[in-house]
Parts: sequence; C-alpha cells; structure tokens
Amino acid sequence: VKRSGKNAFRFFDPELNTRHRDRIALENDLRGAVARGELDLHYQPQVSLATRGIVGLEALLRWNHPGLGAIPPATFIQVAEEVGLISEISNWVLETACAQLARWQAEGVGAPRVSINLSACDFQRGDVVGRIRACLDRHGVAPSCLEVEITEGLMMDDTADIAAKVRALREAGISVAIDDFGTGYSALAYLQRFPVSTLKIDRSFVRDLEGPMTNPIISAITGIARGFDLDLVAEGVENLEQADALRALGCEVMQGYLFARPAPAGEVPGWLRQPERL
Ligand code: C2E
Ligand code: CA
Ligand code: CA
Ligand code: CA
Repeated sequence: VKRSGKNAFRFFDPELNTRHRDRIALENDLRGAVARGELDLHYQPQVSLATRGIVGLEALLRWNHPGLGAIPPATFIQVAEEVGLISEISNWVLETACAQLARWQAEGVGAPRVSINLSACDFQRGDVVGRIRACLDRHGVAPSCLEVEITEGLMMDDTADIAAKVRALREAGISVAIDDFGTGYSALAYLQRFPVSTLKIDRSFVRDLEGPMTNPIISAITGIARGFDLDLVAEGVENLEQADALRALGCEVMQGYLFARPAPAGEVPGWLRQPERL
C-alpha cells in the first residue's frame, strides 16, 4: 500500500476503498448496458379521479444487471450523467417509449400520453428537440402522445437557450412537465419564461397528508397550476386518505401505489380495459 500521494487516505479506509471499487464497477457495467439490452421501461398510470380514466403513463427506467439484479434508477442515473452516458440512455428511453406507443397504436390499445424523464444534461447540449421530433416521426407517433418531464434545476442555469428548447417542444405539440415541483429552487418567475404544460407535486408533500386537512404547500401549488392554466399531477399517492385530501385541495389526477406500481408494458392494456379496477 502506498503511503504517499494525494489520495493516500483512500488506501487506508477499507470502506471508502470498497465504495470506490463499486462505483468503478458500476460505471464499467453501465457502459455496455444499453448495447447488451439490459435496460427496460416500466409504466405507471396517472389516474383521474374525476373520470376514473387513465390520462397518462409515466415511463420509468429499469436496469436488469446480470449479476446484481434490478438496480433502481436513483443509483445509476447520476453516475450516467457524470460519466457522459446519459445521452445514450436518454436516446434509448425516447426510442423505446416511441416504439411502444407505435406498437400500442397498431394493436388498437388506445394508450394515452406517455411521459419520459429527461435529465438536465439532455437539454444543455445537443439538439434535444430535433431528436425527439425525428423519433416521433420515424415511429409515426403524434407529438401529443408524448410528455417530457424535467426538473426545476434545469430552469435555473442557461435560461435563454433552455427556455427556447422548452418553447420549441410545446410548439411542436409535445407536453412538458416540471417534475418534483416545489422541491427545487421555487423561483416561480421561471414559470413566466418556460411555457410548460404540467406540474407534478412531489411525493414528499403527498407523504405528509393525512385525512381531510389543509396543506399550505399543496394549496399553493394547486393555485399556481390554476393561475397558469397548467395540468396538475400528484405523485406517490399510497393511500385513500392522501387521495381524499388531494381531491379536497383541488388535485384530482394522481399517480402512485394506491392505483398501480410501475409495471412492464404488458400490464398496460389490462389497465386501460378496466381503469375502474385501479
Ligand atoms: P420520479 O420521476 O419522481 O419518479 C417517481 C418515482 O416514485 C419512481 O421511482 C416510482 O416508482 C416511485 N413511485 C411511484 N409511486 C409511488 C408511491 O406510491 N410510493 C412510493 N414510495 N414511490 C412511488 P423510480 O422508478 O425508482 O425512479 C426514481 C427516479 O429516477 C425518478 O423519480 C426519476 O427522477 C429517475 N428516473 C426514472 N426513470 C428515468 C429515466 O428514464 N431517465 C432519467 N433521466 N431519470 C429517470
Ligand atoms: Ca418523473
Ligand atoms: Ca417526480
Ligand atoms: Ca420525486
């Protein structure tokens, strides 16, 4: 073991050393994951309590690691961003979601809009709007069938360029949602400059709801959505108390384990046939 050098500390901390090796192994495995076909999309319905219908499906990424099993996106998306693999992964997500929409269309499944999660990196470099439009075209899928979810952080940096991209998506007929709304910078002024279509109430706010009660943050968010004429979706709805409270607060489209867990595409036709069972 080397005793000198800037990183000597690392060599004497067995736990750090293990973490470092795990991280490098993860990076290496991730490099080939797309090519080896280890990624998969699961879908989770967004349910309207008013109509008892499914208004959308969120596509959530899954990595089936050959040795480690299913790895949740929270543990590898950030790594993918840091080592420059995210654009390959995002392209795969876009491609797979559009191909699935085309398949459902061909089968007469009548699938609603699908939301995909993109990372800030996707908007910071490259022609994200062109790639999305080309992909929809190639699969013969209408732009209104797709929604892109982005986070608040994206809207805080290079605003003019990013705002132009968001506007271009909207002008192409593609919906844009702000994910985890209220957990980021909360500089609401950006809502004036970014013509998004949907706000998603983060699970952290939904989690604290019990019974019919007022919740100042959720009330404020529903007010903002109404004021800007935006769609509103609450995520992470796990029980009836939360669903009732959300409805009382003015949010009636919900996503969460109460209705369905994210599941493979094969589950979707069944949900659409009998949404009232969710
Ligand atoms: P998110 O976009 O906020 O997605 C919602 C997360 O909450 C998902 O976790 C979903 O499985 C989980 N969830 C849904 N309903 C409930 C519920 O009732 N209770 C609880 N406890 N959890 C619920 P998941 O699939 O592990 O994804 C985690 C995060 O990873 C996502 O958070 C998103 O930020 C990111 N992610 C997922 N797929 C992609 C992707 O294709 N691309 C990128 N860039 N990020 C992705
Ligand atoms: Ca999301
Ligand atoms: Ca979210
Ligand atoms: Ca979240």
